Amino acid sequence: MSEMTSEQNRQPSERSAVVDLAAVRHNVGRLLELARGRTLIAVVKANAYGHGAPQVARAALEAGAHMLGTAHVSEALALRAEGITAPVLAWLHTPSTDFAAAVREDVRLGVSGGELDAVLAAAREAGRPAVVHLKLDSGLGRNGATPEQWPALVRRVREAEGEGLLSVEGIFTHLAVADEPARPETAEQLATLTTAVRTAREAGLSPTMVHAANTPGLLSAADREDPDAILRDAVRVGLGLYGLSPFADRTPEDFGLVPAMTLRTRVANVKDVPAGAGVSYGLTYRTEGPTRLALIPLGYADGVPRVATGAPVRIGNRLHPVVGRIAMDQCVVDLSRSRPVTEAAGKPGAAREPTVRIGDEAVLFGAGSNPSVTDWADAAGTINYEVVTRLSPRVPREHVGLEPQRDSDRSRSVEHGGHPGAEPVDGPGADRDHGAGAGPGGVVPGDGAQDGPGAGAAGENWSITRELASAEETRALAAALAPHLRAGDLVLLNGELGAGKTTFTQGLGAGLGVREGIISPTFVLARRHPNLADGPRPGGPDLVHVDAYRLGSAEDVESIDLEDTLDTCVTVVEWGTSKVEHLSASRLVVDIERARGAQAAPEQADLAGVLAQLGAQWEEDASAGEVRQITLRGVGPRWTEPPRV
Ligand SMILES: *Cc1c(COP(=O)(O)O)cnc(C)c1O
Repeated sequence: MSEMTSEQNRQPSERSAVVDLAAVRHNVGRLLELARGRTLIAVVKANAYGHGAPQVARAALEAGAHMLGTAHVSEALALRAEGITAPVLAWLHTPSTDFAAAVREDVRLGVSGGELDAVLAAAREAGRPAVVHLKLDSGLGRNGATPEQWPALVRRVREAEGEGLLSVEGIFTHLAVADEPARPETAEQLATLTTAVRTAREAGLSPTMVHAANTPGLLSAADREDPDAILRDAVRVGLGLYGLSPFADRTPEDFGLVPAMTLRTRVANVKDVPAGAGVSYGLTYRTEGPTRLALIPLGYADGVPRVATGAPVRIGNRLHPVVGRIAMDQCVVDLSRSRPVTEAAGKPGAAREPTVRIGDEAVLFGAGSNPSVTDWADAAGTINYEVVTRLSPRVPREHVGLEPQRDSDRSRSVEHGGHPGAEPVDGPGADRDHGAGAGPGGVVPGDGAQDGPGAGAAGENWSITRELASAEETRALAAALAPHLRAGDLVLLNGELGAGKTTFTQGLGAGLGVREGIISPTFVLARRHPNLADGPRPGGPDLVHVDAYRLGSAEDVESIDLEDTLDTCVTVVEWGTSKVEHLSASRLVVDIERARGAQAAPEQADLAGVLAQLGAQWEEDASAGEVRQITLRGVGPRWTEPPRV
């Protein structure tokens, strides 16, 4: 408990790329399903597309990836230096490449032809055969032997194999237009590969791994006439690991993938300006009317594309466009041109727009209701691959979602990009950023061993803490959580009187699309809100809203027959911890704390308490602008992974 509390009280970091390794593991699981038994080569070149190579490599291997892929031998050697012993394949070389180190360190080498002599020399020097994957240029026009060069290459390679200098494990090619599944060139490339493999076998080679598909190849395989032709024996997947979609018209969610990186910072300044005020270098933007501007302390030196003016930044539950030029260190958003994150978030809060303050969390892109990497890529006229990989070393990478068993010795790693070899920081600053407002990345693996009032019970898997500036934001967070809930879920709401438990439930109700009129259920104990046919989830579960405040014993709980509806509804229980936990092995626990200084909740169900409950709704309105800290915690097998809110 004490550790949690001290973390919650710390400030979130100034700026960071939060990388959720639980998302990476989830994505690997999904990609393995799609690969249907093929070997998965997790491509972690370019510092794992900016996400941190050793951390992503370990997470991918933990989740079942069989092999790693890098472009450079030096990238593969850096993984070895991190103690990663899994098979690694590297495929882009120059005469300066350290092949001897590669052979010594058991790095598999892509061989296109030109480097063959140097590889053989390295094998002689190391006194062991080089393990190679022959690369065919089947039409991309980059590396690899052309079909014309291929027969000569396989002859030479077969000879070297005979001399014990080489062992051909694989044959591969790279696809040029797999992200445009309708184009015919992919099938032509795959046919060329088939011919090349036959030639190699006829020459006496016996490769066990033929591979062609990258992320778009794998994701489009099921839609192709002959999925096996593209899936072959193995797939080399980069972008999909990171939860991004390579297709212009398909989102990661379409494939069950979750974006792993959140680029976030805190608002550095807020100011009111009159109409006609110029913004940033060149004064290319002038305000239309009197407005408020917020300064976002990330710029092109951090890797934010300079040309991405117009891209969205989320602050609270609204998206604000970047206006004027993006500078080296910073950019500006115009708060009067914002729009709500979602319909559900916008509706209840439309009347009262939340005020943006210095220090508020600002998210450029991330999972869930955040802007996407693709939003930024579109604004910059590029692709999502470039936006994440170009993120500069100036932005610290923060890894969350580490496996619980590794949590004790390394609760999280904070590392600066571009230094993948750096030791994880375990000093006082190492875990400073789980605090309030850490944003979508503020996920802490649970230690399952907390106790105390309102705190987690054993079996806690993770916790997420957010600081919310208003009742609107409380509703919006709950509305964003609702799509993750399904029939049978038990949600326990803790928090003092007036903290916003009913507000939170109203947000859940809006997101679930149930009949409105959610008020504090103090006297009825339990109220059922039926799902609405014209809501956002027609046919979805009803919401059962319970107040356990006056429920003293398990018999009391039984008297309201919760078990009748538990399996078919979403059950939300205020004051639920220690009263109804026995009803389900799994639960989502929501602790709401008002800003410090508020009075503690009464321990007993006395008259004053009940009267205070009656006034809670009024109090919640009166405290609409007050800061709250909300902590979500997952307990039990249903909630092994945090919802992406
Ligand atoms: C980068 C790369 C990949 C991975 O591509 P994604 O589209 O990110 O999956 C696969 N193969 C080769 C040869 C690559 O260079």
